[in-house]
This record gives sequence, C-alpha cells and structure tokens, in this order.
Amino acid sequence: MSVNRQFRLAAVPKGMPKESDFCIAEGPAPTPGTGEVLLRTAFWSVDPYMRGRISGVRTYADPVLVGDLMVGGAVGHVVQSNDETLKPGDFVAGYWGWQEWAVSKARGVQKLDPRFAPVSTALGILGMPGMTAYFGLLDICAPKPGETVVVSGAAGAVGSYVCQIAKIKGGRVIGTAGTDAKIDYLKKDLGLDGAFSYKTTTDYTAKLKELCPGGIDCYFDNTGGPISDAVFPLLNTFARVSVCGQISHYNATGPELGPPLLGLILVKQARVEGFIVTRFVDRFPEGVAQMGQWLKEGRLRYREDIMRGFEALPKALVGVLEGANTGKMLVQADWMPTG
Ligand code: NAP
Repeated sequence: MSVNRQFRLAAVPKGMPKESDFCIAEGPAPTPGTGEVLLRTAFWSVDPYMRGRISGVRTYADPVLVGDLMVGGAVGHVVQSNDETLKPGDFVAGYWGWQEWAVSKARGVQKLDPRFAPVSTALGILGMPGMTAYFGLLDICAPKPGETVVVSGAAGAVGSYVCQIAKIKGGRVIGTAGTDAKIDYLKKDLGLDGAFSYKTTTDYTAKLKELCPGGIDCYFDNTGGPISDAVFPLLNTFARVSVCGQISHYNATGPELGPPLLGLILVKQARVEGFIVTRFVDRFPEGVAQMGQWLKEGRLRYREDIMRGFEALPKALVGVLEGANTGKMLVQADWMPTG
C-alpha cells in the first residue's frame, strides 16, 4: 500500500509564513468508494490567496486551522476508478490540497485533455488564474482600443495574462513588478508599452506620468499599497478599476492603511469594483475556450515557475509571497513526467 504524505498547518503564521508553519503527516493512501477515483498528484498550485486561508480568520472561505490539511488546487493522474466517466491514466484537475494521494468523487474533478494543452495549464493560464485575468479585465475594466491600462503585479500569473489580453484588445499597457528581470520580461517578451520596478523606482507618480501621458483609463490592481496610491490620482474621468488582489497587505501585522481615495473616485466618476473569480464560474467554459484559442494562435504566452518535489510546497508558498516567481508558481511531484 502506498504512503500518503500530507502537509498540515503546524502554526498560524505571524507576518511572512515560515516553512516550519507546516508539518508533514503520513498515512496510508485512501481507498475509493463507489463513484470515486484514486488520484496521484502530479502538480500542486501555489497561490497568494493561501496566505489568507492560514491567517486563522474567515475571509471569503473558512480558515485552515492548525492540524488541518493545507488546501489548494492540484492536477493528478487517475490510478483507480470506480466510475465510468474516468479511467486509469486520465488526468484531472480539482481541489484536494497538499497531499500526494487523494480520493475524490469522479464528478467532482475536471477531466483534462493533454492534447489540448499541457495539464499544468489547468492550474494557470487555463485555470483559476487565467479566468481571473480574463473576466476581471474584460468584464470589470472593459478596456477599449487605445486606452491606457495599468497592471500592478504584472509579471505574476494573473498579471502576465491580464497584460497580454489588454494588448490583444488594443490597449497601451503599463506594468509594475519587483525585479529588473521581470521588467525585461514584460517589455521584451510580452510587448508591454512600459514597465517599472516598484522596488528600485523612488517616485512612482513621476514614473507613471512619464509612461501614461494621457492618464490612466483602466487599472487592474493585484497589489494595492503605494502603487495604488500613485495610480488613483492619475485616473481619467470614467476610469474603471478592477480590484483583484492586495498582496502588499497579506503579511501585514498591523492595521492596513487605506489610501484616501474616495474623493478622487467621486470627481473622476471612476468605477471601482472588487471581485472573486468564482463569480464567473458559470462562464469558465467561455474563458477557457477563448484563452485556449489565443494560446493556439500564439497570441498568448505563459511562464511556469516549477519547484520539484512534494517537500518544496511551503518554500514555494513563501516564494510566491516574496516574488520569487515569474508567471505561475507550481510544485511538480517527483514521480511525474511532464504532462
Ligand atoms: P503571482 O502574481 O503569480 O505571485 C504574487 C506576486 O506578487 C509575487 O510574484 C510578487 O512579485 C508580488 N508581490 C509580493 N509582495 C508584493 C508587494 N508587497 N507589493 C507588490 N507586489 C508584491 O500571484 P497570482 O496568483 O497571479 O495572484 C496575483 C494577485 O491576484 C494576488 O493579489 C492574488 O491574491 C489575486 N487573485 C485574486 C483572485 C480573485 O478572485 N479576486 C483570484 C486569483 C488571484 P514582485 O516581484 O512583482 O513583487
């Protein structure tokens, strides 16, 4: 019988999580019942929202408590199936957390087609982050050709897809990210019209004025914090702001300082809207079809930052919160060939 290793929460982190906030528990691999499948994990998704889930408080989902299995999206291989819809060897995506083996209802996972795209993309560009970019930009900002779109956290998973979709829609796209290598990637590989490092630029307002001489029509915000402070006064009348994430606050130990922006939003008659990607779940097939089409046409590209081995999961989470990744952060199981 195979041994199933799971990462469980060992302590509620204070500030930036540490690898020691997680511990490994071992037990036998589970046995599937009627209508269920046994899965061996091939890829784990590592995402910033996980920081909120281990904070000990309820956000838009219940917290992971000390001793609980760590949650998260994963892609796995069907090893045993007690349902006619799946057979051994199929790849599926689902939400079974940081463990090497899992049992799931066959109808509770999404069957993947490795001929359509590598299976890992179900956790990135064709998965939750891709849908976040697609609907968060197109439904909330709705950029028009020629408009200026600013994207914070532009070199990460969601941000790098948003930048490219905004370009496809004819936008002038300006991004922010944390290293010079990421700025090069945004400008040279993804064709952004401008980008700057928020770590080495001292005056964000002056830089944004230089890169956005006609003001800002759309702001896709992944970070909040001082980047947003500088963006808001430069919004044009009737600007749209998609509030996707506020990663600059996720490890804060004191109260969040809110920028005094409401007066500006009023006089600019700007539309600011927060969203959780699950709002669009009924329309995911539309998003996957369009993003898949753009991928096939070479109009969208994606990067994956892949760490190897189950043991790397906590390190990968700290990495994504510190900016170690360009594109989607994943952990790949040792046993798996690439899908
Ligand atoms: P990601 O961008 O691939 O990774 C996070 C990145 O955030 C890091 O690589 C780092 O890059 C940057 N970062 C870390 N600390 C920062 C700080 N203090 N200020 C500015 N940037 C910082 O992650 P993702 O999965 O694509 O998620 C991006 C954002 O979208 C997150 O805020 C996430 O919570 C949010 N999100 C929201 C939804 C939703 O439904 N609303 C769904 C998915 C994701 P640098 O090197 O640039 O610092």
